[in-house]
Amino acid sequence: MLKIKHSSNLEDLYYKIIAKSKADKLKGLTFEEYYNKHYKKYLIYDLKDILCGNFEKLVEIKEFHKIKYRDDNKIKRFFNYDKAKTIKFNPLISKLQPKISNFFQENIEVHTCYYCNIDFINTFKKNNETKNAFTLDHVLEKADYPFLALSLYNLVPSCYVCNSKVKDSKISFGDFSPIKKDFDFNERVKFKSFISNPNLQIEKEEDFYIKLIENYSNKYDEYIKSLNLNDRYDYHKYKVLEMIQKRREYPDSRIKELSDLTKKTQEEIKQDLFGIYLSQDLHKRPLSKLIKDIREELDLV
Ligand SMILES: [Zn+2]
Repeated sequence: MLKIKHSSNLEDLYYKIIAKSKADKLKGLTFEEYYNKHYKKYLIYDLKDILCGNFEKLVEIKEFHKIKYRDDNKIKRFFNYDKAKTIKFNPLISKLQPKISNFFQENIEVHTCYYCNIDFINTFKKNNETKNAFTLDHVLEKADYPFLALSLYNLVPSCYVCNSKVKDSKISFGDFSPIKKDFDFNERVKFKSFISNPNLQIEKEEDFYIKLIENYSNKYDEYIKSLNLNDRYDYHKYKVLEMIQKRREYPDSRIKELSDLTKKTQEEIKQDLFGIYLSQDLHKRPLSKLIKDIREELDLV
């Protein structure tokens, strides 16, 4: 739902952390050296492209190999995101997921789920240790493309519900990755409110519903359906109702009074009352896109 923007120095930092990893089974070599010696002949691409290539690059690599390595333990043992050692599975390097989570915690802004903007996915402290409330979703499924399991631009910080409960694994999210250059969900798709009975005024939640509407195209229909966004947002109609009620309590005349009283501009009073979210900050607060879209629709600001 919200576009992810990483800072440009992130790739080198990420690459260093993963590529310079060492493990007993890598026989004194770094991850990168081991890759060049044993894996590059199969995967062809530079490790840097695989780990830090932008999403468009990852799609290219995916298309090149397709699902050839889906059941290939040799690849899975090396690009080990979250597998523990079992009788059947003997990873070359212990799971890198904790390291990657730490990296996201320290270097990337994780506030709310990039898929739904419903939940906070913040970090918190427990006994001085940083814990996180986010999961990292593999946009290009690691089960099909195990060589992309550790790729920075394949990972979307998301809530547990989106990642595990609702996201339809039959639908390819390759077209909808919030990290894609042309991901424009926020611009194309808006929340709109609809009154259930045209004779009614909105007094309670039953009087209206909200829906995500895409203008002039249906590029994101599958995305909305797959993440069950309309049904999940139904619960959050209360937020819209609050805005409508507040607007009734504060008509323009009242806002002008407050403005005279506080010496704040009318614009500032409205911002205090209804909240203000700039497009680039939407990911910082839950439901901020809903609030922003409805505010524009109802002409609250
Ligand atoms: Zn979510």
